[in-house]
Amino acid sequence: MTNHATTKPLPAITDQTRPFWTAAKQGRFVLQKCSECRTFNFHPKPWCIECGSRALAWTDAQPYGTVYSHTVSYSVAMNYPGWEADLPLVLCLIDLDDGARMYAQVTDCRPEEIHVGMRVEVHCEDISAEAGVPKFRPLRSHSTKRT
Ligand SMILES: [Zn+2]
Repeated sequence: MTNHATTKPLPAITDQTRPFWTAAKQGRFVLQKCSECRTFNFHPKPWCIECGSRALAWTDAQPYGTVYSHTVSYSVAMNYPGWEADLPLVLCLIDLDDGARMYAQVTDCRPEEIHVGMRVEVHCEDISAEAGVPKFRPLRSHSTKRT
């Protein structure tokens, strides 16, 4: 069986983003949280988007969110054949329960099923020996917003 994961382009992992990928490899969903104003930040950055503080700490975040916007991709660029087995790809902007907005793939979801307001939960997939990636899937069991 072909391991399609190995034929996908890997993210450029930097010192700034490494904790995100390493945690996902361990099945954990972490985001930078500001120690001053408690805002969760995404994408990883050196300062808080809310207050400008540089006191950001990688923190376990609630692995739940709500679909803000979505699109479905039925084709992939020629140079990314590794993604073909995953088509169609459901790609979403997700408002996390902890406040940040994140771009991610939603799996285990037919294209006609995805909708704005859908509750989703994180699951992590391995993408290399050092990294995993958080993806989302529909939250089927309990759909109330956790705060
Ligand atoms: Zn802040």
